[in-house]
Amino acid sequence: MSTNAEKSAALPDSLWAATAAPAPLCPPLSGDRSVELGVVGGGFTGLSAAYHAAEAGAEVALVEAAEPGWGAAGRNGGQVIPGFKLDPDDLERRFGAERGQRMVAFSATAPDLVFELIAKHGIDCGARREGWIHAVHGRAALPLEEDRVRQWRARGAALEMLDRDQIAALLGTREYIAGMLDPRGGWLQPLSFARGLAQAAQAAGASLHGMSPATHVARHVGGWKITTPSGSLVAKQVLICTNAYTDKLWPPLSRSLIPVTSFQVATEPLADELRSRIMPQGHVGSDTRRVIHYFCMTPEGRLVLGGRGHARKRESRELYAHIVAALHRLYPETSGAKLDYFWSGRVVVTLDHLPKICELGPGIWSGGGYNGRGVAMATATGQLLARCAGGASADQLPLPPTKPRPLPFHGLRAPAISLAVGWKRLLDTWEARSR
Ligand SMILES: Cc1cc2nc3c(=O)[nH]c(=O)nc-3n(C[C@H](O)[C@H](O)[C@H](O)COP(=O)(O)OP(=O)(O)OC[C@H]3O[C@@H](n4cnc5c(N)ncnc54)[C@H](O)[C@@H]3O)c2cc1C
Repeated sequence: MSTNAEKSAALPDSLWAATAAPAPLCPPLSGDRSVELGVVGGGFTGLSAAYHAAEAGAEVALVEAAEPGWGAAGRNGGQVIPGFKLDPDDLERRFGAERGQRMVAFSATAPDLVFELIAKHGIDCGARREGWIHAVHGRAALPLEEDRVRQWRARGAALEMLDRDQIAALLGTREYIAGMLDPRGGWLQPLSFARGLAQAAQAAGASLHGMSPATHVARHVGGWKITTPSGSLVAKQVLICTNAYTDKLWPPLSRSLIPVTSFQVATEPLADELRSRIMPQGHVGSDTRRVIHYFCMTPEGRLVLGGRGHARKRESRELYAHIVAALHRLYPETSGAKLDYFWSGRVVVTLDHLPKICELGPGIWSGGGYNGRGVAMATATGQLLARCAGGASADQLPLPPTKPRPLPFHGLRAPAISLAVGWKRLLDTWEARSR
């Protein structure tokens, strides 16, 4: 297992790193260069923005501190999930019918963009679209889930409510009392998808530079200057796509973000008999707990399960004990299976559960805050950021650009998050026991 994984430029020792398609060549930035659009960060947001801007004819260069897909993009659960955490009726109530409907449509079609890009560029990432299951952990969550299904069906999406036996048959666990099947969702190997997007961006004409951390972004004649240890980019416009890994690059942005850590474990390939019972039809799942669990079966028959974890400078197996316990509770028949991989990554959660495009200054934007749903949402937001750089006005975008809002007491977020997570876990456990 990697130690101090958060700081190393090496990929974590994850299942995805071990099985991904080859990485494209992305030499470090060298010397000084001027471009129309400079992108900082090579996750789904930055890669999609670079691809879409280059496709539209812009001269684009992207700098990435490590390699494309090093961050959350190459570490996640691979679940392609439609919709924001907020339901369609809430969005229309909060943002008005017109803007709300555009936000709903944006969140509903984000998975389409992912699968279209995969098909268009022949990205080899094992993509499948059998649907995403949102499994209900306790009675209190059931009416909310039924209402969610009603809201989406009223907007033409073919979601279905499943009962206890149906959910048990599709997930292979009796942990849940019901669930929703959303056929718009699916799965992909996330690091392979990131690498495929990087290749698509390069083919569209973008230059991608790995091992090129932006150390400074500042105003400059003609736009902005992005400084890295081995060269600089002067760009008319800049997109900061560093999300949960923003650190000190743009302090007001960092102080507006709440990064949390998510952990995953992967079993050894399971015996055919188990594979025929656990998610036998290729669905992926997550649950309605406040501190969620998410799970999928990989093409080689490994069961992968993830959930919230505690960030520590040094990783150790003990930090994963609660994830392993959840795996064995949901799927007791895997308790004899060897666990081959343990890894973690950072995601940003936002107080209103919505992603954010921020206008940081004239000609400079950031995008992020996908609340654990970034496979589809970051890819789609990258496309929006490319439109911002191409001159689209705020009212043309489904997600209106905002200003970063630094959070008070940001320095105390780690103990505050620990307390909140502990409390939420307790509520989840009570609810699950009162089924
Ligand atoms: C364990 C885990 C499980 C998840 N599971 C799912 C899931 O199943 N489904 C789902 O939809 N979402 C999931 N997510 C969330 C999803 O992965 C993220 O929302 C998404 O990857 C965000 O993409 P991004 O491009 O915005 O950020 P990232 O992928 O984190 O990319 C940011 C990049 O910026 C780079 N960077 C940072 N600072 C600098 C700098 N100064 N200079 C240059 N580069 C810099 C980093 O190296 C990094 O590569 C999960 C996340 C994690 C961590």
